[in-house]
Amino acid sequence: MSSVQHQPQADNESSDQLILHLLELHEGALAISSTLELSVILQRVVDTARRLTASRYAALGVVGEDGLITMFITSGIPAEKREVMGELPRGHGLLGVLIKEGKPIRIPNIAADQRSSGFPPNHPPMTTLLGMPIRYLGRVVGDLYLTDKEDGLFWSDEDEWLTGLLASHAAVAISNAYLYHELKLQQEHAEANHRRLAVIMAALPEGIVVCDKAGRVLLLNETAHLLLGWQVGDDVQARPYLTTQPDGSPYTTASLPLVHTLREGVALSGQQMTVSQPHGKVVDVLTSTAPLLDSSGTLAGAVAVYQDISQITELARLKDEFFSMATHELRTPLTSITMSSGLLAELLLAQGGRVAGLAALVDESARRLGTLVDDLLDLSRLEHGRLRLYCRPFDLCALLNRIVDETLPLAERKSQQLTVIADQSCALEADPGRIEQVVLNLIANAIKYTPAGGNIQVSVNYGRGVTTIAVADNGPGIPAHEREHIFERFYRREDEGTAQAGSGLGLPIARQLVELHGGRLWVEDVPGGGSIFRFTIPH
Ligand code: ADP
Repeated sequence: MSSVQHQPQADNESSDQLILHLLELHEGALAISSTLELSVILQRVVDTARRLTASRYAALGVVGEDGLITMFITSGIPAEKREVMGELPRGHGLLGVLIKEGKPIRIPNIAADQRSSGFPPNHPPMTTLLGMPIRYLGRVVGDLYLTDKEDGLFWSDEDEWLTGLLASHAAVAISNAYLYHELKLQQEHAEANHRRLAVIMAALPEGIVVCDKAGRVLLLNETAHLLLGWQVGDDVQARPYLTTQPDGSPYTTASLPLVHTLREGVALSGQQMTVSQPHGKVVDVLTSTAPLLDSSGTLAGAVAVYQDISQITELARLKDEFFSMATHELRTPLTSITMSSGLLAELLLAQGGRVAGLAALVDESARRLGTLVDDLLDLSRLEHGRLRLYCRPFDLCALLNRIVDETLPLAERKSQQLTVIADQSCALEADPGRIEQVVLNLIANAIKYTPAGGNIQVSVNYGRGVTTIAVADNGPGIPAHEREHIFERFYRREDEGTAQAGSGLGLPIARQLVELHGGRLWVEDVPGGGSIFRFTIPH
């Protein structure tokens, strides 16, 4: 604020006039504070200052943060004269002194003062000057100038005191106007951001929903409204459209991805759900959610993105349907080809020669094709939950011994040792056909991937609650980074190349068959080289 050092010594004669001036000052202050428009405020300040001090001219310069004058408002100079006076004063000369020193000055003769830099062309002649800095929070934010009192006298202490009071009001008003201007800019900025966001949201093919921590929808785009039926202000737990999980079971409110994120504060991605819309349309939707945190890291709401994947799931369904139909259709003719080729090969064997060799080749190929089709059928059934187990009690050790007996000739062809440690009888309740399929697959792999002369051992461990069956070999083993991949559909190890025939379906089918029994199948490293596949069956 302006420092006001001079307080007039009000004697009896001037006290009435002082009261009148104070009243006028009060009115002026009210007028100043009644608007937030900076140019209007400044005009009111200079007009009031001129009137109060009975000056011929008054001016007010607003000083920017760089110390230069950014606005210059005058009073007492007609508009046409002001126009020909040219640009803003640069704040040199006496105005510069006032800005720099920040103290009131009274000059009896401007032209005679050494610090004066003179007047620009077309400037009205002026003699006396009263200059008052406008200070706010220690900074000069403007200057108020009065020149030439109308009665021709010099500036009194009272003039300076009144001007100082007026400058204090002006300082607050200017600062308010700055704050208001700043606020308006921020508001405009926020509105522009909001408009930009609205355009982006409207253009997105995904549905977007933003809600507060109570689950009220704050913002959503048209896609989200069409997909899920929500509107701004709705409770996301209310769910206008029915939502079910991929297996068809209904979502409980708490397990809905957006509600889960609101309650637990964790992000979820790629959650699939099915939405039944009122007009009968059923849409598959992929949902990802994320919590929204405020500046202190506290949960303030959540955002969800919904992607309509109905077309993709429909294509996948058609593909699966075709796949399962094609494999099913292939199976019947293949069975008769395999039977006939086997018979043919047997008949032609007696004749020997090239024809017998060819028949054996056809038979072998037909069998491999048959295995592939069976694997594809199994996989398709397993993945659609359509494979049924026929469980019954049986002796696992007897089964393992039989399988090893039957596969021994295969191992012997590669001079491999194939042994089984399953002496006692161990009862198991499971689907013996499927257990045989798993063990056969593991033994066939061990024979296939272990070099000639290797060792393969099958063992069983009847433990607490689970029976563990292991097939170990001293072959090349499986690198750690591939130990999970080999259980993926069609995955074959890269360095395998075409060295061994195979489809990459054996292990994924074996794992799913074991899991269908409630067990686990995994592979471990064997110290000294090789691999050991183990699977458990609960009993
Ligand atoms: P396939 O044997 O028809 O290729 P699988 O699903 O049975 O398919 O096996 C997947 C891959 O795992 C094989 O291609 C092979 O690289 C690797 N693999 C399986 N068993 C063994 C084993 N006992 N030793 C080394 N590698 C193996």
